[in-house]
Amino acid sequence: LEPAFSFLIRVRLPGGIATADQWLQMDQLSETHANKTLKLTTRQAFQLHGVIKKDLKTTIKGINDALLDTIAACGDVNRNVMSHANPAESDLHAQVYQLAGDISRHLIPQTSAYHEIWLDKKLVSSSKEETEPLYGRQYLPRKFKIGVAIPPYNDVDVFSQDLGFIAIEENGKLAGYNIAAGGGMGSTFGIPETYPRLGDVIGFCKPDQAIDVAEKIVLIQKNNGDRQNRKQARLKYTIDRNGLDWFKKELFSALGYELQAPRPFKFTRNGDRYGWKQGTDGKWSLNLFVEGGRVKDLPGYPLKTALREVAKKVKDAQFILTGNQNLVIANTEKKQKVAEILKEHGVWPAPLSGLRQNSIACVALNTCGLAFAEAERYLPDLISKIEKILEKHDLLKNEIVIRMTGCPNGCGRPYLAEIGLIGKSPGNYNLYLGGSNNGTRLNALYKETLNEEQILAELKPIIADYASNKKSNEPFGDFVIRQNYVQEITQGRDFKH
Ligand code: SF4
Repeated sequence: LEPAFSFLIRVRLPGGIATADQWLQMDQLSETHANKTLKLTTRQAFQLHGVIKKDLKTTIKGINDALLDTIAACGDVNRNVMSHANPAESDLHAQVYQLAGDISRHLIPQTSAYHEIWLDKKLVSSSKEETEPLYGRQYLPRKFKIGVAIPPYNDVDVFSQDLGFIAIEENGKLAGYNIAAGGGMGSTFGIPETYPRLGDVIGFCKPDQAIDVAEKIVLIQKNNGDRQNRKQARLKYTIDRNGLDWFKKELFSALGYELQAPRPFKFTRNGDRYGWKQGTDGKWSLNLFVEGGRVKDLPGYPLKTALREVAKKVKDAQFILTGNQNLVIANTEKKQKVAEILKEHGVWPAPLSGLRQNSIACVALNTCGLAFAEAERYLPDLISKIEKILEKHDLLKNEIVIRMTGCPNGCGRPYLAEIGLIGKSPGNYNLYLGGSNNGTRLNALYKETLNEEQILAELKPIIADYASNKKSNEPFGDFVIRQNYVQEITQGRDFKH
């Protein structure tokens, strides 16, 4: 007899798009083989939690039956490629989504081990050594993350990625991509050599050069990343150790040409745009808020049942996971039917504060082994308490980005939040302020190790000050810097915990 080990399974979904049938299959697997919930992650992937060891193979087989897989959803390889949330929004969105898929396919490991181990395709061991054309025998020094954004919406937090593509539209057409390199969120308490960092925009490439650029940057990291110390192994440290000029020189030499100068762009927001939108093809999409990315039934709020009904009855709908843990029921001709089902279940429309709509929480306790504190299970309650303060100052509608994680690894991108909370110990959080609401500035440590009462006591006067003294439309993150609550951080290495 062995302990009942339980596992998390993360399903790769480049660009986050699932069909109605794939949604139903994931829903079913979560009921039969996991904890009856689905987690939508900040990288547009599904997670199943609580899969018992003996059920692992059946679950992965079930995922495969839905034409999905878990390849490269973890590990020292390129991870799920993130993309803007709806390809049907315009031709440009479709091209960008295509790029996310092409990069994902180009950088996926070629090993057949996954199929051998989980899908009984062949014997597990073979005397013949496999070739892994891109990754070689050692794979990458650490995980590698790529995202593609279309200004003015930075809904993939493109500067948090090891490699970000920023689509540049000129005269209504895709001219190419600005390249941002060296972003990454993870850091460790007590090790100042680790820090979150935003990617540097290093140049511009044409659309047909994008995959080549991605491949060469991955190879530079593969050959130069730190393989001795995993805490220094991400591309951001390779760049800071060697310098940005060195990195660009390496890249241009590997490409055989230089990138052009970056083109102008502007991001206005990093959150999702909720509500209905009509695509260029006349079909409708609804961006729904999913608190903490957790799809489950709650008393009076049966979200999981409602979405199952939509997937059963509106077969043309796609289910698109956004980079902010939310969901777009997309590209359907049956807008009325979707609206009816959601209304019947009391799931939509839902009046939500601007703070809640812009919240992200990682899983943290009791699921993540690295967590020091709660996040997903606690942030909704904390937000309710902050909402009371906001209400008093008539700020309930103001969109303020708040993110909480159970440790400094940064899975919920807390370092980009206007209000960031990172778990230090059960019930205690570091409070970070001053991120921008378009994902272009890191926040900075305001106070350390605060319990709930202290968090609320710290936020109360700042929110009151914001209500009285903000300039028109001034975002909260910009305000706290202008008022010197924290100093702006322009270099990741200056970030302190
Ligand atoms: Fe776990 Fe930390 Fe990631 Fe949260 S941020 S999921 S606690 S590793």
